[in-house]
Amino acid sequence: MIISCTRNVDIQGDLYYILYKMIKRFFELQEKVLNYHPKANTELLKKAYSVAADAHMNQTRADKEAYISHPLSVAGILADMKLDEISIAAALLHDVVEDTDYTIEDINSLFGKEVGGIVWGVTKISKISDLDAENAQAETLKKIIIAMTGDVRVILIKLADRLHNILTLGALKEEKRKRIARETLDIYAPIAARLGMGKIKVTLEDISFQYSCPEEYDKITREIGVREEWANQKLEKFRKELKKNLRELGISGDIEYRIKRKFSIYKKLKKQNIDIEKVYDLLALRVVTKSVADCYVVIGEVHQRYTPLPGRWRDFIAHPRNNGYQSIHTTIISGDGIKYEIQVRTKEMHKIAEEGIAAHWKYKEGISFLENDQRLNWFREMIDAHKENPDPEEFLNLLKGDLIVKEIYVFTPKGKVVNLKIGSTAIDFAYAIHTEIGDKCYGAIVNEHMVSIKKTLNSGDVVEIVTRKNASPSLGWLKHTATSKARKKILTFLQQEENKKNIEKGKRLWSKILREYKKKYKIRIDDNEFRDRLRKIHYNEIETFFRDIGSNKKVLDKKTLGVIFNEVEAFEITPKKVRSKKRDQLYRMIRVDGYQDIDVKFAKCCNPIKGEKIKGFITLKRGLVIHRENCSSLRNVMQDRIKKVEWNEEAEFSQLVKYDIIVSDKPGMLSLISNITAKHESNIKKIENEAITQNSSKIKISFEISHVDQLKEIYKEFSATKGVFQVLRKRISEK
Ligand code: MN
Repeated sequence: MIISCTRNVDIQGDLYYILYKMIKRFFELQEKVLNYHPKANTELLKKAYSVAADAHMNQTRADKEAYISHPLSVAGILADMKLDEISIAAALLHDVVEDTDYTIEDINSLFGKEVGGIVWGVTKISKISDLDAENAQAETLKKIIIAMTGDVRVILIKLADRLHNILTLGALKEEKRKRIARETLDIYAPIAARLGMGKIKVTLEDISFQYSCPEEYDKITREIGVREEWANQKLEKFRKELKKNLRELGISGDIEYRIKRKFSIYKKLKKQNIDIEKVYDLLALRVVTKSVADCYVVIGEVHQRYTPLPGRWRDFIAHPRNNGYQSIHTTIISGDGIKYEIQVRTKEMHKIAEEGIAAHWKYKEGISFLENDQRLNWFREMIDAHKENPDPEEFLNLLKGDLIVKEIYVFTPKGKVVNLKIGSTAIDFAYAIHTEIGDKCYGAIVNEHMVSIKKTLNSGDVVEIVTRKNASPSLGWLKHTATSKARKKILTFLQQEENKKNIEKGKRLWSKILREYKKKYKIRIDDNEFRDRLRKIHYNEIETFFRDIGSNKKVLDKKTLGVIFNEVEAFEITPKKVRSKKRDQLYRMIRVDGYQDIDVKFAKCCNPIKGEKIKGFITLKRGLVIHRENCSSLRNVMQDRIKKVEWNEEAEFSQLVKYDIIVSDKPGMLSLISNITAKHESNIKKIENEAITQNSSKIKISFEISHVDQLKEIYKEFSATKGVFQVLRKRISEK
């Protein structure tokens, strides 16, 4: 190998010693590659090293190391991932075009299009990252995604590059350090996560956290510090106990333990606004077994011996995460009341969890290749999404949103893969295939069994949809869909059906009015006149007019009819449906943005009272139904049908509430109770006494109140009254 050293050098230390040190590192790298890939092209590697070493000859890093140490480290990280020699060569050359006199044409002619293409991809991303524009982050991310769809090795190099930069961040000025740390947390760590590269993700996060939020980092470090010895003792004791139990079952598994990572603690504390004491997965153990069957035996044993915390058991073996991650998670409470998070997985799963996409790099007959990997579909979808919506900021949101959306993969009988959101049913699948199949779907054959279309699908299911001519979507389907596409299509279908019905209804109503006018007032209009007059009331299409009068959206009042029949002094015709006085009042009580003419009703399940926090739920048939904000019946409904509403503070009105009050059966209770309501200026509508036992009775009372604060006062006094055992609020509709 020849290394020309004709340039001026400004490196600390003796030049020849440095050259020797770096060459030694290169041979170590080559050795590492040959270990996993014995047929690797070493000539290519040597050439890449000598060109890179020459190109960076007079450059140093911020830490005064010779620059070439950086590409060597990056290549070393890729060799740890066991990547092919093309990646290693490109890694050695990754900063050459960006930072030296070499051009991309030089690289292409020296190394060919494959290495050149990767180097160019990395260079393009670096160029964008240096932009200080407002949308730089989104722009960077977009470039990364696009570069990756060309060759995924570009991002693997970029991740390794970032990893090494983060590891040597200490040498930079604080401002630059913070910016790089922030960018790493926002972009690079999520991408590593998305590619399933747990090990790199964790390192990127932990180090970036330290630099981007030094105060929080120090605080958490202190908090852990005081608990560390205690935690490790507990964990070691638990590990031994578990190990012994597993041995008795004949299972040999490696058990590791750790205290939750600082960055994870930070995220949890921030998200839930809690104290470190409340983090229930602070202490974590991981069991790595030999087989999947063993995993389930271990988890069964753990759940039998200790109390599992409800809702914390997750089976990512049966339902892998979209990045391929598999494991079983649970949290248990041991005898001494301490909570431990336990993860169980096989060795293979552990490898995938640590290395992700890089674990799929295969070597066959001296040729290296990346197995066709589902995870890459995500990037292709992102490109499509970007074509649809080129706004960088929205694209970033979309990406970040998508990073946490969980997906499943199901198959058509012909083996085509369909990606769906987790929780999707056969209905979602049908609409993903084709709208017509969705609209006509009747049943599904999942893994050769006939099932309901409402069946939730799992990754790996083979699904075939059974259609019927007379099948059609119903409102009930909406509850059994997870994808927005299916929902949109179902709602469109229902809306069209509704429109058809309303048009028919409107036509009937209109012909009745025409007959009436002809008979009573001898007025008739021809089609052209009708069209012209409709335009005056802003209807260009007759069908729209019929639809609106059919649905009562347009009321045929005096004025409207006057315009249509060209009568200034129009005849009094009572509109078919007027808002009743009661409805009008209800409408006045609530403010709804954007809805001028919607029916308002109060939910019978929670009877919201003025002053309580409320939400509106849009129903297709009953208008807007007002619930209390925390009403349990809103929990499983679609968020897009929930509407922000407020009480109209200016409107004065009263609302009826009902209570059952269980009291001791002594005289005067009835008057005590009614005095309380009177004191708070509330009108009693009804009050009755009903004996329950010899010593107690039930007072049933309904009274009017104008604000929840008033109700709270009354309730407080009810409860505090001597002789009152219990105060129960009843639904209005309840007897
Ligand atoms: Mn670099």
